[in-house]
Amino acid sequence: IALQNVHKVYNDRVVVNDLTLTIAPGEVFGLLGPNGAGKSTTIRMLTTLTQPTQGEIVVAGYDVVQQPYGVKKQIGVVLQQTSVDLDLTVWENMEFHGRMHHLPNPYRQKEIDRWLDYVELGDRRKDLVKTLSGGMKRRLQIARALLHRPKILFLDEPTVGLDPQTRRRLWEIIRGLNQQGMTILLTTH
Ligand code: ADP
Repeated sequence: IALQNVHKVYNDRVVVNDLTLTIAPGEVFGLLGPNGAGKSTTIRMLTTLTQPTQGEIVVAGYDVVQQPYGVKKQIGVVLQQTSVDLDLTVWENMEFHGRMHHLPNPYRQKEIDRWLDYVELGDRRKDLVKTLSGGMKRRLQIARALLHRPKILFLDEPTVGLDPQTRRRLWEIIRGLNQQGMTILLTTH
């Protein structure tokens, strides 16, 4: 991940001011700062959801403005707001994401099983997501973000609102993924 003199301006207001940084493959990088510092905006630019006003961003070798689909294939994203579909089951959420990424069966089912087990949700696969606890929803979002085997995982405030036990388990998962070679960028205050 490489950012070169990145600026983001919303209505004449500078939200990200001349950010330059490089993150090496295999690194866990923490973006720290208080509310309003521009962390989420930075993640949104890195994940192609919004464009920088100025500056260059390369993620997994792809320019985020010129080659957004190249970027999207290589990244997994867990944003702050719950982005799983509450009216679908755990499995349906995974299945939908797997199809969006054109993962073929039977590989897709194998991977869904693998990642649901990894985040300890294998026994909830038939349950509607709205019946899960906050920590389970967050873990489902992580499993979904990992389904297409991204090289880089982005996590925006991954442990906010979770109890200490769930938070610890989440840090274990994050550390484990990094030990398997995944590059991780996360934000926290
Ligand atoms: P953080 O994630 O560090 O809390 P954000 O990136 O969410 O910070 O926000 C940084 C600043 O950008 C805030 O002042 C916020 O109000 C502003 N901002 C974020 N998104 C938008 C938007 N879509 N339009 C206008 N202002 C925005």
